Amino acid sequence: MSVWERVTGQPAVVAELQAAVADPTAMTHAWLFTGPPGSGRSVAARAFAAALQCPDGGDGTCHACRTVLAGTHADVQTIVPEGLSIGVAEVRELVRIAGRAPSQGRWQVVLVEDADRMTEQASNTVLKMLEEPPARTVFLLCAPSLHPDDVPVTIRSRCRVVGLRQPPVDAVADVLVQRDGVDPALAAWSAAAAGGHVGRARHLARDEDARLARKAVLDVPVSLVSLAACLNAADDLVGAAKEESDKASAELDGAETEAVKQSLGVGARGPGVAAASRGAGQLKELEKRQKSRATRLGRDSLDRALVDLAALYRDALVVATSGGGDVTLAHPDRRADAEELARRIGPEGALRRIDAVLECRTALEQNVKPQIAVEALTVALRLPS
Ligand SMILES: [Zn+2]
Repeated sequence: MSVWERVTGQPAVVAELQAAVADPTAMTHAWLFTGPPGSGRSVAARAFAAALQCPDGGDGTCHACRTVLAGTHADVQTIVPEGLSIGVAEVRELVRIAGRAPSQGRWQVVLVEDADRMTEQASNTVLKMLEEPPARTVFLLCAPSLHPDDVPVTIRSRCRVVGLRQPPVDAVADVLVQRDGVDPALAAWSAAAAGGHVGRARHLARDEDARLARKAVLDVPVSLVSLAACLNAADDLVGAAKEESDKASAELDGAETEAVKQSLGVGARGPGVAAASRGAGQLKELEKRQKSRATRLGRDSLDRALVDLAALYRDALVVATSGGGDVTLAHPDRRADAEELARRIGPEGALRRIDAVLECRTALEQNVKPQIAVEALTVALRLPS
């Protein structure tokens, strides 16, 4: 399977990248992949990296392709933020490597997923490199949009922009069936429920808990009939997000801590005082990173719930203003809820509630305590009696 087959529903992007691979003289040193969540920015960037290193333009089967896709190619460096941001120390290390000639591949490729999470200092370090790129180095940056909040204008202006679109629901369902072996009916449902978001669709298709969590979130709007119901719903939303992130963190943390302890020989006899104190420092550093990642996982989980909620109110708005015509909904399986909401709150009520959800997202970004932000939200979402 060629590396391009992993890039779902993006024929124009694939054609552009293939052309760049085929004609190295037209190569650009900095690329910026943008597109909505789930459109496959990092998948496209990685496929491109593989094709650049592959002697056959990305056949997907040779050693170069396989190692790039597995993340072990010596000349493809990747930064994925684990905490809330990509710091200058991580980027400096990367820039140091980027300055070298490729050791075996044709290019030295630097791939920054979530470039929007770079700190200002980190961005400035990357920018210096983009101003005078080494001859064989290619930067691939991924960010949700071209908004200056995501990518500073100075960096954007030095990049060739590759815009991905939300893949069509059918294309996503096809991928789930053919690549993940998901049952066609479940694949179609998951793809529709995820609105063309590939990763989310896969998660829904594979994980029963994810389907139940989504259901719990979408059950909220029509349940908000009293103040008590609003406060309960807030507890449930915050609790579910915490539970999900605790589960994910525990899996990641346990393995890491064990690995560090083993490499330090903690528990073995007589490591010596110096080694023991160095080890304590390393473990402390690891704990700090894990805490930052847990915070991010919790925020991501809550944010996903808020996106689902906002989409249901948008569906209600669409239903309320369409006059009963056939309309495409973000949550097609929850049409009955959208219709009930439309009847009870009308288009203005739906708009007000969409705003309330967006305000809650902003508050969470600004580090307002989740419980407080979400309680304020559910109270604002309460149905008229
Ligand atoms: Zn290959």
